[in-house]
Amino acid sequence: MVAPNALVGKVNEILVQAIGEPLRYLVNWGRLYSLWPVHVETACCSIEFGATHGPRFDPERFGLLEAFGSLRQCDLLIVFGTVTRKFAPRLKMIYDQMPEPKWVIAMGACAITGGLYFDSYNVLPGIDDLMPVDVYIPGCPPRPESVLQALIMLQEKIRKSKLR
Ligand code: SF4
Repeated sequence: MVAPNALVGKVNEILVQAIGEPLRYLVNWGRLYSLWPVHVETACCSIEFGATHGPRFDPERFGLLEAFGSLRQCDLLIVFGTVTRKFAPRLKMIYDQMPEPKWVIAMGACAITGGLYFDSYNVLPGIDDLMPVDVYIPGCPPRPESVLQALIMLQEKIRKSKLR
């Protein structure tokens, strides 16, 4: 005779095997086509990011929503521009307020390495000192096409991610 706990465990295992993969696909599909971003803009890359959001490039057709609302609704942090050491704790605070799962894009040389100010005493040599970065967009500034490419790369990453 099988113990009730062992039976429940076996049923759970069968259920996870049966619906785990379709469920993972469905949840990831929903997430990757409804990315809700918060932008942290400190310098000139924001001009190109603004151009990306115009009708010519239209990132909403890929599922990147308009940036508004509360940080607690956002799941994508996009950082562009120089991040000073004074500002770094505020940036970390923004990241910490976002719920899991969340993703980060570093746009432009300044956000990736400190850019022109890489050896300055008061500039962070890249935001990955503060938080995990999922996609980097190199350039000074990167063009809108690069932003769209980064978005598609991030979506591929989300599509393959495991449910936590
Ligand atoms: S990477 Fe270049 S364009 Fe972007 S914020 Fe830095 S200096 Fe400006």
